[in-house]
Amino acid sequence: MDIASNLFALRERIATACARAGRDPASVTLMAASKNQSPEAVRTALNAGLTCFGESRVQEAKLKIPPCPSRARWQMIGHLQSNKCRDAVALFSMIQSVDSLALAQELNRQCDKAAKTMPVLLEVNVAGEASKFGYAPAAMLDELLELNKLPRLEIHGLMTIAPYSPTPERARPVFRRLRELKGECEELLGAPLPQLSMGMSGDFEIAIEEGATLVRLGTALFGERPRMAEGETEA
Ligand SMILES: *Cc1c(COP(=O)(O)O)cnc(C)c1O
Repeated sequence: MDIASNLFALRERIATACARAGRDPASVTLMAASKNQSPEAVRTALNAGLTCFGESRVQEAKLKIPPCPSRARWQMIGHLQSNKCRDAVALFSMIQSVDSLALAQELNRQCDKAAKTMPVLLEVNVAGEASKFGYAPAAMLDELLELNKLPRLEIHGLMTIAPYSPTPERARPVFRRLRELKGECEELLGAPLPQLSMGMSGDFEIAIEEGATLVRLGTALFGERPRMAEGETEA
């Protein structure tokens, strides 16, 4: 596993995808999806020039973040349970996985207690997969104005996970739909939303062509993910 050379190759692929779409490569943030990766792997990625890390579980992040250099910036990209909101507010600079009004209200409450404002993305289950979290598109649009009233949360955009397919092109309609949904949100809010978090190792080039501003890369950057320790569960 050579994170620095993986990163070099990924930046080239991002630049090429941007060129195809007539976009500036600086408009796409490469987030390292660091679940199951050690603090040592995070340090290597930091030294290679990355600063933005995405974690999927609060429990894991709580152990991993303290020993990592403080210049790392951490965002929550996995499903968040209400009883983990307090820790999440302390650990993360953005929560990408807001998927219900109840969760948003609890996040708002914990942010208020901590005297913080939290940038959030609304996670949308565009393809309607039963195995995935995230808002159904219509439910997200229904709750948007209520979500926007929560004073401690700032809605910065939308996030999605496309269904896995060995054919990345299959993800294109999902990414395109998320971009359209962002437009519908902007109309409802009367304000622009800067972020579209979409694209992972297998499909990030398609996501960039469809407007991704943040791609979340795990295996393409770190190599195959280490298995979790005994007793941990994928959540
Ligand atoms: C694990 C994960 C990723 C990264 O997946 P890879 O296919 O390894 O790049 C991206 N986003 C989320 C939400 C994840 O949980």
